[in-house]
Amino acid sequence: MSGYVPGEQPKGEGIIKLNTNENPWLCSPEIRDILNEINVANLAKYPDPLCMEVRKVIAEKHEVGVGNIFAGNGSDEILALCIRAFVERTGAVGYFDPSYSLYPILAQIEDVEVRPVALDENFEWQMPENYEASVFFLTNPNAPTGMLFPKETVEAFVKSFPGVVVIDEAYVDFARESCIELAVKYDNVLVVRTLSKSYALAGIRFGYCIGAKPLIDALYKIKDSYNINMLTQELARVAILDDGTMTAITSAVKGTRELITKELNDLGFKVYPSETNFVWVKPPKPGAKKFFEELKKRNIFVRWFDGPRTKDCLRITVGTNEQMMTLVEKIEEILEK
Ligand SMILES: *Cc1c(COP(=O)(O)O)cnc(C)c1O
Repeated sequence: MSGYVPGEQPKGEGIIKLNTNENPWLCSPEIRDILNEINVANLAKYPDPLCMEVRKVIAEKHEVGVGNIFAGNGSDEILALCIRAFVERTGAVGYFDPSYSLYPILAQIEDVEVRPVALDENFEWQMPENYEASVFFLTNPNAPTGMLFPKETVEAFVKSFPGVVVIDEAYVDFARESCIELAVKYDNVLVVRTLSKSYALAGIRFGYCIGAKPLIDALYKIKDSYNINMLTQELARVAILDDGTMTAITSAVKGTRELITKELNDLGFKVYPSETNFVWVKPPKPGAKKFFEELKKRNIFVRWFDGPRTKDCLRITVGTNEQMMTLVEKIEEILEK
């Protein structure tokens, strides 16, 4: 098998990195304070295997029980555990095409069948009749399209679906609504969140999911004993307690998103309505692949995905206003060539 290929992590001066949806803003100032307070002697001990202190804070934030929360080493760990927990050898994994390209690879690792559902030309969905899978990964807002599926549509789907629906809300803090209540209302729904995007903390590796206790218990049975290190547990706790910083930096990103949407529209790009910290765009001539290459030559990294549904588009992370202005300048340069 071929493994997952993460976005490039180029090193060097003057590079504008808009290819992995990192947040350009600084995380909570509480993080710096807590790093200074951490007792180094405690690093000799194993961390709490159940991650109780963070789960208490998450329970309060979402008004659910601690027993309805699973904490993971990034949400990617949770996605992998969902396949191991909920898919038998003869089962199948479902997801939309295009969506997060990690899902089929996680299925391949476990040697189980995949049943992707192709989105239509507007990147919207129509479920095939009698569709079944053990687990369905529903990315909402979707990536790489940035579009939000309405809660009513998602609810109608989870009601009729016989397996576990994992709603991947990696970008939901940039969106107008969340499906988190479905995880409380239905016993076949897990909602997955991450600190990597909206909290500007991709480096600490922390994600969590919310759902019915039997699903959460199953994940706890099969996880690594000490899946989240002690430093991350501390940092995640103070970051979630300081939700104000997250709200402020996501608002800033949304402001810049509006700005870049308008600029790119004016330059003849089709910009899909984004509810995330990236924009999914269809460039004019010379086309997506050429723009990807030409921008890279100019030290701007964006993401281009080969494949019938994605090859005409680019995914561009919303950076700072300054980075977006440089992007616009370089695009103008390429258009004039
Ligand atoms: C970034 C991303 C993740 C991974 O989040 P981590 O918590 O950093 O592992 C999961 N799902 C989607 C759709 C993402 O874009």
